[in-house]
Amino acid sequence: MEGFDLEKEMKELNLTTSKESREDFLSYKVKPGVIVYPRTEEEIVKVVDYANRKRIPIVTWGAGTSLTGAVSCEGCILIDMKYMSSILEINDVDWYVRTQPGVNLEYLNKKLMERGFFLPPDPASFFLCSVGGAVANSSGGMRGVKYGTFRDWVLALKVVLPTGEIVKIGEPLRKNRAGYDLTHLFVGSEGTLGVITEIWFRIVPLPKRKLIPLLVSMPSLDSTAGVISDIRKSGIMPEIAEFMDSEVLKTLNVHLNAGLKESEGGMLILLIEDQDLESIRNIIRKWDGDLTELSDKEWERVYSLRAQAAIALKASAKEMLVEDIVVPVSKLMDAIRKLKELEGKFNVRMPVIAHIGDGNLHPNILLEEKEVALELFEKVGEIAIELGGSISGEHGIGVQKTKLMAIQLAKHNGVKVLEIMKRIKEIIDPNDIMNPGKYVERAYNESMRN
Ligand SMILES: Cc1cc2nc3c(=O)[nH]c(=O)nc-3n(C[C@H](O)[C@H](O)[C@H](O)COP(=O)(O)OP(=O)(O)OC[C@H]3O[C@@H](n4cnc5c(N)ncnc54)[C@H](O)[C@@H]3O)c2cc1C
Repeated sequence: MEGFDLEKEMKELNLTTSKESREDFLSYKVKPGVIVYPRTEEEIVKVVDYANRKRIPIVTWGAGTSLTGAVSCEGCILIDMKYMSSILEINDVDWYVRTQPGVNLEYLNKKLMERGFFLPPDPASFFLCSVGGAVANSSGGMRGVKYGTFRDWVLALKVVLPTGEIVKIGEPLRKNRAGYDLTHLFVGSEGTLGVITEIWFRIVPLPKRKLIPLLVSMPSLDSTAGVISDIRKSGIMPEIAEFMDSEVLKTLNVHLNAGLKESEGGMLILLIEDQDLESIRNIIRKWDGDLTELSDKEWERVYSLRAQAAIALKASAKEMLVEDIVVPVSKLMDAIRKLKELEGKFNVRMPVIAHIGDGNLHPNILLEEKEVALELFEKVGEIAIELGGSISGEHGIGVQKTKLMAIQLAKHNGVKVLEIMKRIKEIIDPNDIMNPGKYVERAYNESMRN
């Protein structure tokens, strides 16, 4: 901010600071006026109170793995949560964990698993991301087909509001019907409503039944969609149902020496309960798939390759944009066909990774110039809207999907809904300092322009 030496001001508040520019995972620019590294909630209150008085934008940084430009800023105070990384309580009677937001998700699950529990949602960035970022983004992941997204696992939150007040919302209870559901208003709000300082997550015991990991090579995209459709019809609920198309497999083979079988219909990665094995075998036989049962060791390797697929794709191109659309599972084939048409029309590489079991597709647009991708990016979003789906299942909106969000809400819900969201933002953040100019605000402005 012009006229302020923000670093000096923050040092005077006794905060640990630095000043450097960063990039997020997709190279969106993060050019803060200062970065602060709070260790306590009180320090966050000091920063927010200062920023609110001086009308300086605040952006909260978890681990910067956002795929939508949600942490990009110019001249903001960037609050890096890396030192607020303690697990505060694991309660194995009431089945919750209370934690600070800077904890790494993989680390948290390691600690929970030592006690026989886990927090199921597993974004493929689980080894990189913070749990605060995952909540603020309402991230999903590979287990989404059975366990949903982070939205389904947050019981309560403590938040420093943009006015500097601290609120605790929700209760660490399985059932709680007191008042409007403010907890879930904050989940997925992408740092636009406050800084999350504490989280109560619901946890569950590790699955007791034996789980069988399967790798299935498919002859065609039609057959892949057929398998998923038949799994749904037969009432089987896989623990994991992931998909990587032939181009993703090729990239993993080249960049990570993965040794995966490449085939026209790509590969399904399934984790199922042992009682469902026979039915799954029959379904896969019907669609001419080639099924391999994996050992625990092979499963670990395949799961890790799947988690690294986006990183390998990024290494294979100059620029990458990651799409994140959801369609009804019954429309998967229509969506995949339309995506392939777009790929041909725009003459680009657009390999698809998918949490296919819940209809969540990630076409990865690989290009020389990011600008060229933007038109294609919007066309992909329009496919979801047209098929009765959503323009984001888990990555969120950031700066990237505001126009599409405005179009979806107008078409599926009516503009009133966007107006309500805009008003909520104004009530909670009257001076518009929390991650301003993105998400709802930008979507609202886009809708006014159209
Ligand atoms: C290789 C790779 C694979 C991925 N796979 C998936 C996937 O399978 N599923 C999925 O959903 N996502 C995925 N993502 C996207 C991303 O990793 C997740 O959304 C992740 O949970 C974000 O966590 P983060 O700590 O990096 O958050 P950041 O990127 O730092 O922040 C994300 C948003 O949350 C806000 N925020 C962060 N911390 C707080 C806080 N304490 N209080 C308030 N707001 C806060 C930020 O301001 C920003 O708006 C992937 C990303 C990568 C790089």
